[in-house]
Amino acid sequence: MSDTFDLFRPARRHRMAFLRLHDVTPLAMQYFVQRHDLSLLSLRDKPDLSDVEVLFFSLHSWRDFYDIARLPKAPGQIWIAGGPAVYSPIGVSHRMDYIHVGDGVAAMQRMVQGEFEGPGTINTHCMNTVQAVEEPPQVCFDSRIVMSVGCKRKCAFCVNAWRRKYVERPESEVVEFLQRTPYKGVSLLSNSSDDVSYYANLTPFLQGKSDMVVSNHISAITEAFAASRSREVLLGIEGMSERLRASVLKPCPAEKIQKVLLLLFNHGVQARTVFQFNLPTETLADLEELRTLVHEIQPASKGSWAIPFIPHQPSPHTPLQWSTPTYSIPMAEAIMDFRQSMFGSKDTGVGVYVPAPLYPGRWFAQQVAEWLPVTPEVADAVEALPRKAAVPEMIEFLAKRNVRLPEAFLDRNEHTVFPWDCVEVRQPKARLWQVYEQLQKIRS
Ligand code: SF4
Repeated sequence: MSDTFDLFRPARRHRMAFLRLHDVTPLAMQYFVQRHDLSLLSLRDKPDLSDVEVLFFSLHSWRDFYDIARLPKAPGQIWIAGGPAVYSPIGVSHRMDYIHVGDGVAAMQRMVQGEFEGPGTINTHCMNTVQAVEEPPQVCFDSRIVMSVGCKRKCAFCVNAWRRKYVERPESEVVEFLQRTPYKGVSLLSNSSDDVSYYANLTPFLQGKSDMVVSNHISAITEAFAASRSREVLLGIEGMSERLRASVLKPCPAEKIQKVLLLLFNHGVQARTVFQFNLPTETLADLEELRTLVHEIQPASKGSWAIPFIPHQPSPHTPLQWSTPTYSIPMAEAIMDFRQSMFGSKDTGVGVYVPAPLYPGRWFAQQVAEWLPVTPEVADAVEALPRKAAVPEMIEFLAKRNVRLPEAFLDRNEHTVFPWDCVEVRQPKARLWQVYEQLQKIRS
């Protein structure tokens, strides 16, 4: 296959196209579709892809790997993927010709010129090792601007902390954007807006506008902040108990959580607090600690509080990549009991809503997509997984359908070679292992 696309061929319809898998077009893609000769197609419209020569994908989650498993590919067509999900590229390496890992502004600039090989780009025909590309925040589109990338904090489970360096866009560029944008609802994008060193300085420029994206660290919520918010506040608290929060390097005393939530509710601000379950060493006692906290807060105010629980995944390129994937069905059932116990809570104080958690079958689909190429056969087997089963049972279920996870899947150690090791990130693997070992000490 030629690495250089012949730009001087007679123009054809959809010579290069971006295929949107879902309703949302990623910001960077909108930017490129508008500035280059790139067509924007949507899977929902069942487009005819037969005359597309180069097809771009932005893969945001493991679900996207299953979406493209059965998508027909025309002979000679070049498929290129980028997006956050390809830090673990094996799931789509058999379908793509090139996979770009990391920030993609420079890569897209060369790719639309027909230069597919370059920094951060895997040629899947030889599976070269790449260093994920880091670029300063550049993209700014309509009502949205990226203020910062990465995260200053070091939560052990979080990809944002370990994959790249924290970098802020200059304050003057954000101020200039706020002064010129005609939109009232704006999105100042970052992983945690309060961590942006100049976020507080933006308040005068936000007069008459509302920042639609809020992703705050709990320690930053103050009286003034609560008084100024009109939209829901999202708080990633993660561990259900103090012990668990400390064990994943995101410590936060229960007292602090209580104080902050009451502050928000007393100012009429809705809250959404995200917790993980299936964290290493977790027991039902950890959920009990959270239930106690909720029962203390709930009658003390009015308002609305959503408490989603997300099953933990040992994410690639984090210290927890060495944790054994576990799904506790008793814990999921206890969360469902908790959910039921909160029905009608708005009649007695804060209305608490606990969405049903993701069950093991669908949760396991992500694990598989990080370890195996998602072929139609793998997708069929994964889609047939029992809804509620423990991990060993799901592994056996897949093996009976000739879908075999390697031994290292359940048996991880310092020497484990992960399927995503062809991607190098800012924190070397040896450093991630050191942190993992420190965590074991914290837990013991
Ligand atoms: S969980 Fe949030 S605060 Fe922690 S490292 Fe990730 S983005 Fe930062």
